[in-house]
Amino acid sequence: MRPRRTPDPPLPASRPIGDEVKETTCYMCACRCGIKVHLKDGGIRYIEGNRDHPVNRGVLCAKGAAGIMQHYSPARLTRPLRRVGPRGSGEFREIDWDEALETATEWLGAIRRDDPRKLAFFTGRDQSQSLTSWWASQFGTPNYAAHGGFCSVNMAAAGFYTIGGSFWEFGAPDWEMTRYFLLFGVAEDHDSNPIKIGLGKLRARGAKIVSVNPVRTGYSAIADEWLAIRPGTDGLFVLALVHELLRAGRVDAASLAHFTNAPWLVIDDPGAADHGLFARDARGRPLVRDRVTGRVVPAADPEAQPDLREHATLADGRRAIPSFRLVAERYLDPKYAPASVAAETGLDAATIKRIAAELAHAAFEHDIAVEQPWTDAYGRRHERMVGRPVSMHAMRGISAHSNGFHTCRAIHLLQLLLGSIDAPGGFRFRPPYPKPIPPPPRPAGQMGELARGLPLPRSPLDGAPLGFPTGPEDLLVEEDGTPVRIDKAFSWEAPLAAHGLFHMVIHNAFAGDPYPIDTLFLYMANASWNSAMDSAGTMAKLAARDPETGRLRIPHVIYSDAYYSEMVAYADLVLPDTTYLERWDCISLLDRPISDPDAAADSIRQPVVEPHRDVRPFQDVLIELGARLELPGLVHAGGAPRYPGLYRDYIVNHERKAGIGSLAGWRGSGGDRHGTGAPNARQLDAYIAHGCVWRHEVPPQARYMKHVNRDYLEWATGMGFIDAPDPIVPQLYSETMQRFRLAAEGKGETVPPPSQRARIARYFDPLPIWYRPFEEDQIAEAEYPLHAITQRPMAMYHSWGSQNAWLRQIHGENRIHLHRDLAVSLGIEDDDWIELVSHHGRITAQAKLMDGVNRDTVWTWNAIAKRPGAWNLAPGAPESERGVLLNHLISTLLPAREDGLRYANTDPVTGQAAWYDLRVRIAKVAPSAVTEPRFPPQAVPASLPERPAVLRFGLARTRR
Ligand code: SF4
Repeated sequence: MRPRRTPDPPLPASRPIGDEVKETTCYMCACRCGIKVHLKDGGIRYIEGNRDHPVNRGVLCAKGAAGIMQHYSPARLTRPLRRVGPRGSGEFREIDWDEALETATEWLGAIRRDDPRKLAFFTGRDQSQSLTSWWASQFGTPNYAAHGGFCSVNMAAAGFYTIGGSFWEFGAPDWEMTRYFLLFGVAEDHDSNPIKIGLGKLRARGAKIVSVNPVRTGYSAIADEWLAIRPGTDGLFVLALVHELLRAGRVDAASLAHFTNAPWLVIDDPGAADHGLFARDARGRPLVRDRVTGRVVPAADPEAQPDLREHATLADGRRAIPSFRLVAERYLDPKYAPASVAAETGLDAATIKRIAAELAHAAFEHDIAVEQPWTDAYGRRHERMVGRPVSMHAMRGISAHSNGFHTCRAIHLLQLLLGSIDAPGGFRFRPPYPKPIPPPPRPAGQMGELARGLPLPRSPLDGAPLGFPTGPEDLLVEEDGTPVRIDKAFSWEAPLAAHGLFHMVIHNAFAGDPYPIDTLFLYMANASWNSAMDSAGTMAKLAARDPETGRLRIPHVIYSDAYYSEMVAYADLVLPDTTYLERWDCISLLDRPISDPDAAADSIRQPVVEPHRDVRPFQDVLIELGARLELPGLVHAGGAPRYPGLYRDYIVNHERKAGIGSLAGWRGSGGDRHGTGAPNARQLDAYIAHGCVWRHEVPPQARYMKHVNRDYLEWATGMGFIDAPDPIVPQLYSETMQRFRLAAEGKGETVPPPSQRARIARYFDPLPIWYRPFEEDQIAEAEYPLHAITQRPMAMYHSWGSQNAWLRQIHGENRIHLHRDLAVSLGIEDDDWIELVSHHGRITAQAKLMDGVNRDTVWTWNAIAKRPGAWNLAPGAPESERGVLLNHLISTLLPAREDGLRYANTDPVTGQAAWYDLRVRIAKVAPSAVTEPRFPPQAVPASLPERPAVLRFGLARTRR
């Protein structure tokens, strides 16, 4: 017998590596994970995930860990700059902050005295949008948006107009209970750690993961099944699934009848002004037909047994049809049968049929339930929460097409038919969502005020610049239909542009269409390069002068960024920002939530190190500028600054409405209130004491079916998330869309100009439709036979990552990936040089062959390529020599119509940039040392630090 061994003394799992640890929130992507920053001698030594943080539970990705290199990057701006050379040259002189702020105040003050609309204020992946949008409304300009129009507004808008929430930040799969997970068009950048953690749970439980994506990378690589769909056809695939479920009668009829608008009666009176709208009683309540009594009764009648099938006769003798019947009639059409869509989607009919059957099986034959009684919004008690363990998630691959809005609506329709919206095992809302459909507010600056000449100089807008129109009367158009906004959001060209059209502002400002502006004010938006369609054209427009006057077409450009990006070179005035580790921030429920389905949550960033450069947090600068400009919300009556402590002061003391501020935790003078309450002077201390995050749990009886759960709706009202505890009824059939369609028929007071009517009538269908993406439809398919799309590398986020000393070692250059069979047919081998030609431009790069891609699709990593000199990278850096951007191939405008009109290259409903619609041809070209197109280097400001030959910023600290 072996002698018993004395146990070893417990080993420390990790030794202290610094002298201080500070908690804060990561900003290396949009997930906002909690991090612990280890400091030594005031410098950053190490970043680890915060195990107590609800977003990441300690998980830290490559990007998050590389935050050190983001902080010590030689690309960091160090001083304010004023342009001295031509726009784009990168020639600046250094100035001090007094001059910088005086210059900005002079330019902006002149605009505000004249016409606030001459300011276009646009931000990129800004996590302070509740401040920046409020600042714009205080300035009085409707010309504000962040980058959502370029990214995924189709997904957000379709969700908000259909279910009152959306994927990603507004909802999440029920990772604990789902059995079947369908992932549409998701790259690796959005919801990065939470998705990875969730996929791990699904894998451990043996749930099935199906990825629908032309490219098999990242999440798709670990899926049980990969459907190599043809780009832009996801909507058709989903509607074929809907066809199959309807054909087999495999839908959740009870959920549809009681908790959606499927039974709501639609007026069937062609030619009438209310044709296609919901039949309502005198109190405006939607009506249904009771299938037991045959009577027409309010949908909210708790005794009603709503009929999904039969027509009804209304009190005025007209006929009305349940929405669901319109759904069934539409999608049972053989044109949606799997065999009919197979060729277009690239998926075989048997696979589509099988997926539909598997979805139904998972939803209806796995009896899962949460044994928790609950009461619905109509007062009916339910003994348990019935599960439908099918969940879905979608992102930019669906969104960035000109048919993306309807595709996202189709996915939500599929979820509703399966009864899996906020049911156990399905898609779950994250508080403060769901919100009413569509959510308030409407975009500020409606036609009535504009007819009176508003916004008046020096007047704030009467609300937020962005919002959700309920019908044509909410559009921002002049009497003759001319857009009010520089980006044409909320005009007839993009009526439901809930996130604005970031990608159109430079083009329209250059063209003076619909009017010239004076100042383009950008924050954290690499708008001249990888956040542009047609990057070369965008740079030319930024530098363009009027041939007659010689004046710049966009007279002033103010830009704030922490780094020397490509966009900095086009600014006249540069306001250097800090890194995310050097400032206060709030991740507010007024912006995009970090909540999980079981709890509301928000968080802060605190400065963990001092900036030893002459830089200031942009949010501080914005508040100081607001005070200098005497914007109403930023000064007291006598003109003294309202927030002398700048952003920190604003975070704590600003109230959007009485009791509702930037942060929901520890409110009230004693810090004992959550959700609403008076400002609390010690609120930030409370956040810091709790790891910089606040999480407040939803009561157990309120955790599912939130949209129609009385306890949830009352809880959410008490928390200040919604105004009243009214049920939020998912809209299979959209009355808002029908209102636009009626306007296109000339009905109502606000109607589109004749040139726009056919387009509105076609694309504002109240039920989801599918049509071919515009570019594919308008160019010669034989000439441009391939799709070209991008994927976001898991290790990177926008253009920040590819200058990061650690991350650029993973992706320092990018290739064009293509299917091996396609390559063979074109005589292309690995590393061959190839050209890609679109109807708009030409690029060259090296090829990389693979099997995991749709045969008719080529793709590359996004935002790797850099302009020489940008980001303070060394001459000959691989990012500028062998990196390539697809953006050069993407046109801002679609080809001209017969009447010469050129629409923006966007979704016709929301204005979402349709950059995944790109079509190309490829061919082998002669070998080269560099990719094309080439651009002259931008000069590097003298104030930027010298680049070390090898970027080893942590070396000194590791040897201590
Ligand atoms: S997922 Fe995003 S927020 Fe989380 S650690 Fe990675 S980079 Fe940071």
